[in-house]
Amino acid sequence: MSVRVAVTGAAGRMGKILIEAVTLNPSTELAAAIERPESTLIGVDAGELAGVGHAGVAVVGSLQEVVDQFDVLIDFTVPQATLANAYVCAASGKSLVVGTTGFTEDEKAELLSVGIKSGMCIAANYSTGVNVSLKLLELAAKAMGDDVDIEIVEAHHRHKVDSPSGTALAMGEAVADAIGRNLQDVAVYGREGIVGARDRETIGFATVRGGDVVGDHTVMFMAEGERLEITHKASSRMSFARGAVRAAAWLVGQSPEVYSMKDVLGLE
Ligand code: NAD
Repeated sequence: MSVRVAVTGAAGRMGKILIEAVTLNPSTELAAAIERPESTLIGVDAGELAGVGHAGVAVVGSLQEVVDQFDVLIDFTVPQATLANAYVCAASGKSLVVGTTGFTEDEKAELLSVGIKSGMCIAANYSTGVNVSLKLLELAAKAMGDDVDIEIVEAHHRHKVDSPSGTALAMGEAVADAIGRNLQDVAVYGREGIVGARDRETIGFATVRGGDVVGDHTVMFMAEGERLEITHKASSRMSFARGAVRAAAWLVGQSPEVYSMKDVLGLE
């Protein structure tokens, strides 16, 4: 029996491609599509909106309205909307796949404490390649950590609102955790002016924004005489959408815990 999936943020860049990915995955079916209540697209067929043909699912303006119609919600919207949706999913025992990034520390803590009764998967990046690269970063950091300077460079399209990207932060956390540093203490977000020589313990972030870059990330491990770079480049949002739909199908039937994409892929 296929897993009934609801997609919120249905008209967004990710929402439309998530609708396509749900229809392409043989183990999932599109059960509901949600947008902001004031959206002019309420009532439009979600499949037509996503360019995949008639789906027989009209976009609605409230999650509550369709709460009995799905097993798992995929949410790539904005932090406040995702938090509100997490409470609805918690109250109704629905699973939740969170793709939204840009949560403050408080919002992240709130999301983790909504009291889920079903599984929740949170990942700053649902692509398989990025999650494999998180494993490679752990390996590199453990082997090279105290002998190298570590810097993270990321590039995204001009519409992205948060910086550094959630993926860059997840990469920073993977590296910092592997070598026993706390990212909050050692992160340096950009440099300007006479900032002094580099402190070995720091992990630097640099952000590029422009054009239609889907998402590039490079972590550099720089020593005297050699440099290791681990790079991931996303060329289509379908890489995130396919992973999120795979997470949605995997979540149903799991115990009520918070999972990462590494759990879904068996990389933990
Ligand atoms: P977008 O602005 O194109 O789409 C967001 C959509 O959410 C919009 O259509 C908006 O109307 C809708 N929305 C906002 N509030 C809503 C509400 N209360 N109810 C229903 N819909 C609501 O943005 P995007 O590029 O699709 O990205 C969305 C989020 O996903 C961002 O946080 C982005 O960083 C993140 N993202 C995550 C991954 C990942 O793999 N985890 C990949 C890509 C993007």
